[in-house]
Amino acid sequence: QQQQSEPEEHNMLVLVRTRPLNDRERQTSQREIVRVVPPNLISFDPPSDDGVPAFSTGAYTSTTNGPAASASAAPNAAVTAGSVVMGRKPRDLTFPFDRVFGPHATQEEVFAPLLPLISNVLDGMNATVCAYGATSAGKTHTMVGTEDAPGIMILAIRELYRRAELVASDRLATIAISYLEVYNETIRDLIQPSGPLALREENGTVTIAGLSVHTPSSPDELFGMLTEANANRTQHPTDANANSSRSHAVLQVHVRQSNRTASIHADFTMAKLTLIDLAGSERATVTTNSGARLREGANINRSLLALGNCINALVERSRRRSNTTPYIPFRDSKLTRLLKDSLGGNCKTVMIANVSPAPLCMEDTHNTLVYASRARSI
Ligand code: ADP
Ligand code: MG
Repeated sequence: QQQQSEPEEHNMLVLVRTRPLNDRERQTSQREIVRVVPPNLISFDPPSDDGVPAFSTGAYTSTTNGPAASASAAPNAAVTAGSVVMGRKPRDLTFPFDRVFGPHATQEEVFAPLLPLISNVLDGMNATVCAYGATSAGKTHTMVGTEDAPGIMILAIRELYRRAELVASDRLATIAISYLEVYNETIRDLIQPSGPLALREENGTVTIAGLSVHTPSSPDELFGMLTEANANRTQHPTDANANSSRSHAVLQVHVRQSNRTASIHADFTMAKLTLIDLAGSERATVTTNSGARLREGANINRSLLALGNCINALVERSRRRSNTTPYIPFRDSKLTRLLKDSLGGNCKTVMIANVSPAPLCMEDTHNTLVYASRARSI
């Protein structure tokens, strides 16, 4: 029953979310270098209303003269960055996506386009959602969120519970979760810290030996589990960013369903929803480390590169709609090996690209928009 879904080209959805400027960024410049044009366009580095690009004497002056400035509050970095690109032309690019979300979008609004994917999981198909973007672009906020504004991981579980309850008289659904990180090409359990764990592939199903499985009784309990587990994520202060996260955090949701009326040996369906808070996508070259840290950077790039290559190959395959399918390089990294049974085919995939609107994040934001639009259109 898994084979008759929509055509494959509908199986990849690319969303972009821009976060609000934070207080520190606001002190430097009020300008935002990405503008959301609903429902599906992102305008990158548009000219301002006065025709001046985001980094300019004008923008800088208005900061120092503005009410929030109290002059000396502006960090030196901003002054330097401003003078480097002073007088340049705005790049003024427009990127189309499936949906775009501005700084005021709620978690529920971002989650809404994922509802069909939840239906697919309940129909027995695997699916993947990943948050991509540079460190501090809003990936963890989008995926985990806060107690008051729970993110995609929590909303997805809540929706699965709700739908399972609706059909509870006919079908018995069991929902179990695992939470792991891929760090430096090794897999570790984040809920019951252990590892490195081995990845196995049997009959087209990928499993991780020794990974703990949990059945949170409510979305709130899951939120507690995830926030506690996130403290176990491998983090290292680097020159580039003191809180940069170099690990991919992967929540696997296993949904097992069986008919209540059926016999003991009756069919059941198993499906897996994989939700990933990817490592920061900023370039490894931004950090000044060597040795171990450089290897980390290379491995993160390897996983993100491999993920991009797999997605691009899958998008290409669906575009060609021929039997000469391109090779999908799942084996190139741990992350893509983990996703081998959850990407492509009838598996729905959603990429949520998170970007910062701050002028200082311009290059990261540009790189993310390019990566995300390649996932969509190649
Ligand atoms: P990342 O996980 O990509 O490194 P975070 O999710 O930790 O980034 O976001 C960085 C900061 O910005 C956090 O303090 C977070 O609360 C805030 N933030 C991110 N996205 C939003 C948003 N959409 N609305 C409000 N605050 C946000
Ligand atoms: Mg994070």
